[in-house]
Amino acid sequence: MLDVKKDFPILRKSIVYLDSAATSQKPYSVINAISNYYRHSNANIHRGIYKLAQRSSDLIDLSRAKVAELIGADPEEIIFVSGTTEAVNFIASRFRPPEVTLSVLEHHSNLIPWQQSGAKLKFMDMDDLTGNFIAVTGVSNLLGTIAPLSKIRKHSPKALIFVDGAQLVPHFPVDVHKLGIDFLAFSGHKMLGPTGIGVLYVRKSLLNKLPPWLYGGDMIDEVTLTSATWAEPPQKFEAGTLPLAEIVGLGAAVDYLQNIGMAAVRRHEQDLTDYALAEFKKLKNIVTLYGPASHRAGIITFNVNGVHAHDTAQILDEFGICVRSGAHCAAPAVARFGVPAMVRASFYIYNSKSDIDYLISKIPVVYDRLHRADS
Ligand code: PMP
Repeated sequence: MLDVKKDFPILRKSIVYLDSAATSQKPYSVINAISNYYRHSNANIHRGIYKLAQRSSDLIDLSRAKVAELIGADPEEIIFVSGTTEAVNFIASRFRPPEVTLSVLEHHSNLIPWQQSGAKLKFMDMDDLTGNFIAVTGVSNLLGTIAPLSKIRKHSPKALIFVDGAQLVPHFPVDVHKLGIDFLAFSGHKMLGPTGIGVLYVRKSLLNKLPPWLYGGDMIDEVTLTSATWAEPPQKFEAGTLPLAEIVGLGAAVDYLQNIGMAAVRRHEQDLTDYALAEFKKLKNIVTLYGPASHRAGIITFNVNGVHAHDTAQILDEFGICVRSGAHCAAPAVARFGVPAMVRASFYIYNSKSDIDYLISKIPVVYDRLHRADS
């Protein structure tokens, strides 16, 4: 098992943080990279001849290269956006496929932009996804279900596949070329990096078919008073000043993850998840578990029987346990289970079996508290 909690200053507080699917905590190396950028390298990129601007530009190029390497892409295929949500909005509104097949488990961020795009929508279970344009979450943030991306690719060899990687890239080894996917979106803040920065991967052969997202400075080649031509990708898609310190912070986050190795990250979380599932099963008289019985990401979704998810989360908070409750931005998927809300505990590299033991030890307390209140 990994033992890295000491690298995360916020985890020195007496909390058990089990909400990494919402956002991850940040190691010193990321916090320091951001601080050092402002102390030593801050200048706007591309526009400066002077050395400081060059240093800043080099740092951004380096981060882009690190992100590209993490997912097996080329640097020009990496477009910096504010997060997964912006990436989906970009492709839904600018690429505009006439018909999109989605899974029934999508996060609202990979649902509502497609609804608004005017595309005809089809919905299928993850295992059955086929179509000409498929937009699917790589890992469900609600249930931890892992999308069978290779199988989906095999079923629809000519389809364009957009993967919402918000819960995939931070936790699994990913190689976009091996997977044969066309678009991949993910958020820095869920993978040890800062908020405000995310990534959209677009397969090279599609870059020229994609119109710009925003118009303005930095994305142009030649400009007259009445017309403009575009810079080469990825600059064509990155109008205005990018969140530079955040990009540098994301680069540091990628370094941290690569030092551990994504296979080791996945192994750690798989061990924790198997352990948690086994421990939760011992509570089967008082807890209902949702999601796959095995082969799932580090996400356990449950309800304490007869207790509203918000009450469970509130009582657990009294013990310093941070879990999320509600519909987890996946209201249609929650509704399929006939409950108003669920509790979600989600893990990352800094969690340990003792975090799970502590959570498990407090579930009967939640049950007793609410059932005593009933009687
Ligand atoms: N998709 C999934 C599967 C997610 O879990 C999330 C974040 N909860 C998002 C998209 C949206 O990510 P962001 O808020 O960083 O844009």
